[in-house]
Amino acid sequence: MKNVFKSLVAVAAVAAAFSAGAQSFPGGKPITIIVPFAAGGPTDKVARDLAEALRKPLGGATVIVDNAAGAGGSIGANKVAKANPDGYTLLVHHIGMATMPTLVRNIPFKVESDFEYLGMINDVPMTLIGKPTLPANNYKELVTWIQANKGKINLGNAGVGSASHLCGMLFQHAVGVDMTAVPYKGTGPAMTDLMGGQIDLMCDQTTNTTSVIEGKKVKAFAVTSPKRLSTPALKDLPTLQEMGVKDFNVSIFHGLYAPKGTPPAVLKTLNDALKAALKDPEFIKREEGLGAVVMADKRVEPAEHKKFVASEINKWSPLIKAANVYVE
Ligand code: ASP
Repeated sequence: MKNVFKSLVAVAAVAAAFSAGAQSFPGGKPITIIVPFAAGGPTDKVARDLAEALRKPLGGATVIVDNAAGAGGSIGANKVAKANPDGYTLLVHHIGMATMPTLVRNIPFKVESDFEYLGMINDVPMTLIGKPTLPANNYKELVTWIQANKGKINLGNAGVGSASHLCGMLFQHAVGVDMTAVPYKGTGPAMTDLMGGQIDLMCDQTTNTTSVIEGKKVKAFAVTSPKRLSTPALKDLPTLQEMGVKDFNVSIFHGLYAPKGTPPAVLKTLNDALKAALKDPEFIKREEGLGAVVMADKRVEPAEHKKFVASEINKWSPLIKAANVYVE
């Protein structure tokens, strides 16, 4: 009896501590968003904008961005999968959550079961861009240049399993020319080398390419979405589908995740804050100016976010297998 009483007291104490913790979340403690790519790239940019927009709905909390780059985004994702599930360590990741399971063999975490899904942030098309000195001025000329320079072309990416890697692999497959992949820890540093002419081509999200296309620091050849974009700097770019690359449709979504086992009350606080951030006029203006579509449909709900990632895994798995673009 005494033991039963002791256990009941212990259970009550844990429950009280849990609910006090959840109620006071985030309290005075800073929240860290891990970005699995280098600073200055598109995933980093969206995470920093989101961190800013989350501050107010989280009662003025400090939200820090920390870059844990490498291995195409799997190092940072793994860090969050293994982090303390208390709501203070979160992950902003992109389509890699859906492509890594097929593209990269032996990833050290499970996308479906090692994370709590907090809601999607945005959807961002990619652009196919080249170094400023590239002699081609449009997509047709680019294909002619590619055919004439077989074996000599370098294609930058953010590492195996990244979005730029996937897009670049599919593009090479579509034009039937192998190019040398040059991996970086993110397309932020890769962009510096593309502008400097150290690499020839790259695919990257419009959130990182709009300003450099506008400033004529790189050449832009096409967008990877099935529809042309309305952003002024990008509206004249053809889609790859228009250019005869059948079914080419790569759109990059970003989502927010927490480690599996984060308390439900903390998850609710974070999801409510995310929804408020996605309605922040400043955040919307910034994202839309860079060609992104801020998430406004049911995929801001955790269950729908999870369902969508599962459907993207099913969508990409056969395409990646058909294109034979595995990475060991
Ligand atoms: N755009 C990158 C990718 O190719 C990642 C980044 O630096 O945000 O996956």
